[in-house]
Amino acid sequence: MKIAFAASEVYPYAKTGGLGDVIGTLPIELSKLGHEALVFLPRYNTITIEDYNLKLCDDIGEIPIRIASNIYKVQVYTTTLPVSNVIVYFIDCPHYFCRFEIYTKDNDEDERFILFSKSIIETLQRLKYAPDVIHCNDWHTGLLPVLLKENYGWDKLFHNTATVFTIHNIAYQGIFTKDTFRKADINPEHAAPGEIGEYYGNINFLKTAILTSDIINTVSETYAKELLTEEFGAGMENFLKRREKDFFGILNGADYNIWNPGKDIYIPNQYTSSDLSVKLKNKTALLKRVNLPQDKNKPLIGIISRLVEQKGFNLFEDSAEQLMKLDALWVVLGNGEPKYEEMFSALVKKYPEKISLYLGYYDELSHLIEAGSDIFLMPSRFEPCGLNQIYSLKYGTVPVVRKTGGLADTVEDWDESLSNEIQSGTGFSFKDFSPQMLIDTLQRAITYYKNKPTWKKIQLNGMCKDYSWKKSAEKYVTLYDKALKKYVG
Ligand code: ADP
Repeated sequence: MKIAFAASEVYPYAKTGGLGDVIGTLPIELSKLGHEALVFLPRYNTITIEDYNLKLCDDIGEIPIRIASNIYKVQVYTTTLPVSNVIVYFIDCPHYFCRFEIYTKDNDEDERFILFSKSIIETLQRLKYAPDVIHCNDWHTGLLPVLLKENYGWDKLFHNTATVFTIHNIAYQGIFTKDTFRKADINPEHAAPGEIGEYYGNINFLKTAILTSDIINTVSETYAKELLTEEFGAGMENFLKRREKDFFGILNGADYNIWNPGKDIYIPNQYTSSDLSVKLKNKTALLKRVNLPQDKNKPLIGIISRLVEQKGFNLFEDSAEQLMKLDALWVVLGNGEPKYEEMFSALVKKYPEKISLYLGYYDELSHLIEAGSDIFLMPSRFEPCGLNQIYSLKYGTVPVVRKTGGLADTVEDWDESLSNEIQSGTGFSFKDFSPQMLIDTLQRAITYYKNKPTWKKIQLNGMCKDYSWKKSAEKYVTLYDKALKKYVG
């Protein structure tokens, strides 16, 4: 099968979260299964030709793309994903993609990703390449299915091409003014009240994708169920219900070539489940690196996260003082909303011996935190899949999570009523989204941390879990098959 991926993030070129990890890995896993995968990504200015050894696709030439009434000239660069033969095409248009960030609040944000979607289709035309499936991801590529079917519907090349759309996070929908469809040359009737693009008088890219893709999925089974409810659906629940027969959940996997304590190139001491004591050396290195006391009897709680409401940090606002009283040390890596950055900064100022904070995005430090921490905390309000809890399991770093979305699907709560021998628990979780539940659950984890044989059992239970991409990639193949059958049907 031939699959073309369209995404705004692909690791290692551009990543702000899980989307980048997924698109950096899934295509490679599909190619290992014998399929042909291509990837499309904008060439942001951080993706330099020199650093990534990009080659200009001379045979494609300059592609004129119309946005509103302007024509922009697009060039295409290419390389392959590291250690693979998966081709990546970079859509190059400095006018739109030379910005300080991947995502902006600029008033042409819609145009940036309309150009991206149109450029993907036009590149495929010039390559005379007809994928069986175009796999779109999140709102940035949400208009691609309708563009493909209507604006480019005349092109026989795509007559057997189906579309699959993955929702990585329902919170980001791409909402713009009505003018957006005109700029994209999409039939303005679709912007009329109640039509596929319209949402409270505006245009919603995600809604358009939900109603126009052949198959839709999200990144865990529990999140797929949650999205059909008002509490989690963020206004999309009724559109998803309309598509319920075509809507699925597939858990993301982990890339164990990158996230594996036995071969992690970023950690000073590699280890496996048979020499777990080596993990302690990483704790020593981490405590030193983040300037915390070498208090090895206290559990070290790690957080690596975008500091946004979704991740549950408002629970800290009401419980910070009590959390700092727990018999533990803390290391936090992340950036995001100023109020949470300020909240953690204030805690560091007040409790410099207890908590250390790194504001920013540091890939290498994130690996050391996974390896050196004892507990990994993810108290998310909602979590489509979540990757760090999956990585933590492999690193013997016991996850403490809120039981929602992918966290519910991957972390099994330690059940005190069972004997150690038959226990399969891998971490600690809580359901009620309340500061007290967070404190109680962390306290429960800290109590077990002091019971070394039990703690080791929890660590080993997690380390032997296999969330590699292979299984999930096979499920995607089944999904692509469904999309093709449905489309052809
Ligand atoms: P989301 O996509 O909602 O941000 P995920 O758990 O799915 O959450 O994926 C987050 C990914 O981003 C993980 O690979 C995590 O290690 C990484 N990450 C998040 N924040 C940082 C940071 N500040 N520095 C380094 N890596 C980070």
